[in-house]
Amino acid sequence: MDRLFEGYRRFRTETWPTEAARYQELATVGQSPETLVIACSDSRVDPQTIFDAGPGELFIVRNVAALVPPYKPDSGYHGTSAALEFSVRVLKVKRIVVMGHAQCGGVQAMARGAPEEARDFVEPWMQIAKPALKNVPDDLDPDQFLSRCETEVVRLSLANLMTFPWVEEAVSAGRLELNGCRFAIRTGALEVYDGERFAPVT
Ligand SMILES: [Zn+2]
Repeated sequence: MDRLFEGYRRFRTETWPTEAARYQELATVGQSPETLVIACSDSRVDPQTIFDAGPGELFIVRNVAALVPPYKPDSGYHGTSAALEFSVRVLKVKRIVVMGHAQCGGVQAMARGAPEEARDFVEPWMQIAKPALKNVPDDLDPDQFLSRCETEVVRLSLANLMTFPWVEEAVSAGRLELNGCRFAIRTGALEVYDGERFAPVT
């Protein structure tokens, strides 16, 4: 924990003095973020850092491979769907950003099978993404194959978002926009999906 406490002390001495008023206002009036980010749990892909965002700006749900499951209101434990419901129906966010990334271990588990030790939950979780594989040509070289899987998984999550009736309704009414992107860890570059392809943000 020492490393974490060191970071906390830096936060208290360096960040807190300039941000305190913002936190206190957020504590008083509550949060009203305009953006929900659905990102991977991967330690290299932090939306707050990538979008240079401050407290109160982003509502974030992170899971393995930044997946959105299909709408399925049953007695299962739907953590991602719960965050989606709260941000869309209660906080009324204006946009949702699904952020995939390069070298995604979850996507690799989907394409090549989960590691032996991660079969209880990772394997079944990644089944959500399996339909994305049908759009990936199997004659690509291994790196291109995984990159294509990563973008197809983002597209699948965007499609799954539209299976939630209150997402579909808000999008149709023009109150909510859906965006997809992919972060390249090696270069730090973000590519955004324009409905047809992923292109770098200029
Ligand atoms: Zn990942």
